[in-house]
Amino acid sequence: MNWDDTTDAEAAAERLVGAVADGEDQAVEAALRPKDLHEFIGQEKVREQLDLVLRAARARGATADHVLLSGAPGLGKTTLSMIIAAEMEAPIRITSGPAIQHAGDLAAILSSLQEGEVLFLDEIHRMSRPAEEMLYMAMEDFRVDVVVGKGPGATAIPLELPPFTLVGATTRAGLLPPPLRDRFGFTAHMEFYGPSELERVIHRSAGLLDVEIDTTGAAEIAGRSRGTPRIANRLLRRVRDYAQVKADGLITQEIAGAALAVYEVDARGLDRLDRGVLEALLKLFGGGPVGLSTLAVAVGEERETVEEVAEPFLVREGLLARTPRGRVATPAAWAHLGLTPPSAQNAGKGQQDLFGT
Ligand code: ADP
Repeated sequence: MNWDDTTDAEAAAERLVGAVADGEDQAVEAALRPKDLHEFIGQEKVREQLDLVLRAARARGATADHVLLSGAPGLGKTTLSMIIAAEMEAPIRITSGPAIQHAGDLAAILSSLQEGEVLFLDEIHRMSRPAEEMLYMAMEDFRVDVVVGKGPGATAIPLELPPFTLVGATTRAGLLPPPLRDRFGFTAHMEFYGPSELERVIHRSAGLLDVEIDTTGAAEIAGRSRGTPRIANRLLRRVRDYAQVKADGLITQEIAGAALAVYEVDARGLDRLDRGVLEALLKLFGGGPVGLSTLAVAVGEERETVEEVAEPFLVREGLLARTPRGRVATPAAWAHLGLTPPSAQNAGKGQQDLFGT
């Protein structure tokens, strides 16, 4: 399964239904983030388990165990790390794997942590090897060896660290080396959200943004949000604009549908790129199998864009399958685009022949 890859291609693709945060998201998300576990919607198991871990640590007066959160972008990993800090009444420092290219970068961060501080390390699987190795010791013994000098004269100076809680986030837990994974006391996998949970997210955000929305409007946006709260919040903002300009501000099913039609996000959350890939597969190649390169040329996109940006969601939705012989459309894909698969046409024709009609 690779629906939860975050790739550079995906991060680079600015799309309304992209799960990676864009500039506008970053500016407004702070206001929409749930502040404690009660406010955090869905992910019942993760919430229940995390609640126990944090309560136990608080009761012992200890720093919480290191936590690993895995799951697709936009599902609430950063939010949960902030909640962990808030529940532990601890400060939080936020950084990411790609920002730590040298062990020295990590040493600088670790040595400046306060006792009990939460260190949120996003995209932890993208940290450099030497930094990763330094992290092993820091997590286990709250100690790092800082190497000073080069070559035969180099010396390692041990540095004691205050106890801290590392919250690591990754889109792909399977990519983490086992020694790193094993050093987390608590590991949680975040699932995509169901429609009713997304509706709650949308109602909550609408309340905070002072937007009027009815239950049908929230359901319509939820259905197009690809299981992802970040996308739900982003679609809500676009629909709000439309409701203000074209109507009286109240978001209903009709308004949400009309607004998202303008942005070419369809009833299942597919955008122009997704639909382009599906349409090419169905109309030009009879539903496949067709090779990735051919499909990419047909839609006028890079191979990587088709493979990393469009396909993961199509596969997750059961609209497209990747087979050794190439890409194949499923019956659900034909139904979604309102087209008839050739086999059904042939079957129909065969029957006509059979019955002489
Ligand atoms: P990630 O770190 O996994 O990419 P974030 O924690 O940044 O995701 O969440 C993205 C946005 O989605 C945040 O603004 C937050 O408001 C919203 N969000 C995520 N999870 C939830 C949730 N369970 N309940 C309410 N809002 C959520």
